[in-house]
Amino acid sequence: MDKCSFCGREKSDVDLLIAGMEGHICDRCIEQAYTIVEEEFKQKNTFDMSGVTLHKPVEIKAFLDQYVIGQEQAKKILSVAVYNHYKRLNQKVTDDDTEIEKSNIIMVGETGTGKTLLAKTIAKMLHVPFTIVDATVLTEAGYVGEDIESLLTRLLQAADYNVEAAERGIVMIDELDKIARKGDNPSITRDVSGEGVQQGMLKLLEGSVVNVPPQGGRKHPEQKMIPVNTKNILFICAGAFDGIERKIAQRLNTKVIGYGAAKDAEQIDRDNMLQYVSPQDLKSFGLIPEIIGRLPVLTHLDPLDRTALRQILTEPKNSIINQYIKLFDLDDIELTFKEDALEFIVDKAVEFKLGARGLRSICENIMTDAMFEMPSNDASKMVITKDYIENKLDSRSAQRLKAS
Ligand code: ADP
Repeated sequence: MDKCSFCGREKSDVDLLIAGMEGHICDRCIEQAYTIVEEEFKQKNTFDMSGVTLHKPVEIKAFLDQYVIGQEQAKKILSVAVYNHYKRLNQKVTDDDTEIEKSNIIMVGETGTGKTLLAKTIAKMLHVPFTIVDATVLTEAGYVGEDIESLLTRLLQAADYNVEAAERGIVMIDELDKIARKGDNPSITRDVSGEGVQQGMLKLLEGSVVNVPPQGGRKHPEQKMIPVNTKNILFICAGAFDGIERKIAQRLNTKVIGYGAAKDAEQIDRDNMLQYVSPQDLKSFGLIPEIIGRLPVLTHLDPLDRTALRQILTEPKNSIINQYIKLFDLDDIELTFKEDALEFIVDKAVEFKLGARGLRSICENIMTDAMFEMPSNDASKMVITKDYIENKLDSRSAQRLKAS
């Protein structure tokens, strides 16, 4: 009687038995073996960096330019930081003890100016696990909320639990400003969601072995922890730091009093105070010095003006307008936007103070009817004019947009 040489089941007990030179294999064992091979393959091949070319900073920036409008300084600084990160990872162990230390980054910029977009675009280009986590969900161990280690749970998940890959990944910690200490003075009462969380983050940022709960959330005694070394993980922190302009202005004003003060004060660009941001301002805002010390690369994002908003509509590789054109193209409809229509959309985004994020919500409001009706029409063309938009953006949806 033929039997599976792996599990020993007889031919009558299985659906399929394949004969080999000296044995047999059943369909179940084939399936199981396939899963094992696939797992192994995944572990080995995803995030394997050996064949990845090291992109030069200029190339990284050129890639970012395709997706992100403006933000020249931030792009340059990120390109260099990421390049150096890669160089560190590829560093051969040599006799000399010069060890390149990692340079975690902090980006300060109003919401909707492209902080997340920059980080996401970098991740798209690189071949490392990447995740974005919100600092606001974190609390000190023992309090309601998520343990700080859960930052790394997401990274592990992004790396398919391949610890080695996760240990070379990038974590973006968004809304870092929300865990600022309230006020410049160390608090007397315990500050559960602010200073304590910052303290807890220190060991992650500087590099140490952290026990990570594989499923996130709270640490449970019965949950088996996965040790992750954060030494080579690049942390990109970001936040809007609302009100930091005042701290910057205060500092600049104190500095410019005295000789040559009038001249310096004149040169300050009051519309874009963030460009002068310094580590000292972050401290005044409520970040503890130890955190600031572990985020040595500080950069800012510029506010988006009208010109930038107009460019964002059509110029990035997957711009909002291009996405609509593509959507219609899939139904064989040629969609075009008149220039005055585009200008009108920008006007509304400025009027409602919605920034870049508003461009999409405005477009959605305008395009809903067309997206609903056109696929059932015979029309092969659609032209969006200013009149069309004015008509669609009636007062009701305008109110809704303003409120959003
Ligand atoms: P935040 O700074 O709050 O992280 P995001 O990066 O999430 O802002 O930006 C929100 C959206 O606005 C992005 O998905 C993108 O469509 C658009 N956007 C914002 N800034 C830019 C920019 N500089 N270039 C291109 N698109 C941008």
